[in-house]
Amino acid sequence: MKVIDLINDRKKTLFSIEIVPPLRGNNIEGIYQRIDQVIEFDPAFINITYHKDEATYTQLKNGKIVKRTISKRPGTVALTASIMNKYKVEVVPHLTCGGFTRDQAENALIDFNFLGIENLLVLQGDAGRGQDVFIPEPDGHRYAVQLVEQVVNMNKGKYLDENLEQGNPSNFCVGVAGYPEKHYAAASLDSDIQYLKAKVLAGADYIVTQMFFDNKYYYDFVARCRAEGIDVPIIPGLKPIALINQVDVLPKIFHTDIPEALTNEIRKCRDNKEALEIGTRWTIEQARDLMKNGAPVLHFYTLGAGSSIRKIVKEIF
Ligand code: FAD
Repeated sequence: MKVIDLINDRKKTLFSIEIVPPLRGNNIEGIYQRIDQVIEFDPAFINITYHKDEATYTQLKNGKIVKRTISKRPGTVALTASIMNKYKVEVVPHLTCGGFTRDQAENALIDFNFLGIENLLVLQGDAGRGQDVFIPEPDGHRYAVQLVEQVVNMNKGKYLDENLEQGNPSNFCVGVAGYPEKHYAAASLDSDIQYLKAKVLAGADYIVTQMFFDNKYYYDFVARCRAEGIDVPIIPGLKPIALINQVDVLPKIFHTDIPEALTNEIRKCRDNKEALEIGTRWTIEQARDLMKNGAPVLHFYTLGAGSSIRKIVKEIF
């Protein structure tokens, strides 16, 4: 079932989780264990992130430097199909501009379509390691909106081959990302919201936000989006803090503010167990407030926070 239909048919706030594929060399069991922790609380859908290949440079004994391209977290497509089969739950693989030429993106879409996957989160993708800004693949898309257009074209049976007049139409429901505290590369929140609107006008069905720790950012963002005529559901993204050092790391990586009250509490913790406890309580308060104010779905980023997600959903769902 499409995420947008799940949202429209909901009787109450739903929840979803986001899972990162295992590092190369690990098995799938760790992912199943994480899902087992929450499956009894009925997640509406499960997102699987995508990680493009990374270039690594190794110096040989003779001093020569060799470049090797390696995919550290392969398996997004297979993981999606395995989780759908095992748990009969909707899975939303992420598809990024990064790592794909337009033709490769079309091939990935064909794979998803043949596997019966109806949902995608369409993104630009993270900048490559050591790069300050995102650099597209040669003949790849630069912005998520272009990839949304490609998916929407395929939904109409329009493939890249212009000689193919009417191909098999896919039926993807498309989510896109939004940033309550502004995307790091955007000149202003206003321009970022205009580009977000372009993704919706191109056919995105809903928005999932970057993590935030102060609900005020989400409420203000939703109000600004609505004022600009963006009327699709906006799903808040939540991440329970699980480690003391995350109060320093998360703002750097995700460009999000952490409120003084939370930072102070976490810094007082003697160990990560205490930090996880505080982080969990904070997310529960955020989640309760968002539910009270009608959030359609609560989307939980699980990286490093598997046990707290169980506690949170057990307490509130
Ligand atoms: P875009 O919508 O393309 O926007 C990128 C920037 O360009 C913004 O600053 C925007 O304002 C600007 N912009 C947009 N369109 C235009 C235009 N036409 N002209 C000029 N400027 C423009 N990354 C991964 O690599 N893998 C993942 O699985 C993944 N999952 C994510 C899930 C969520 C919920 C979120 C919020 C992010 C995720 N990311 C992931 C990170 C994401 O790829 C980065 O934040 C990326 O830098 C931006 O992606 P986007 O789709 O929002 O980009």
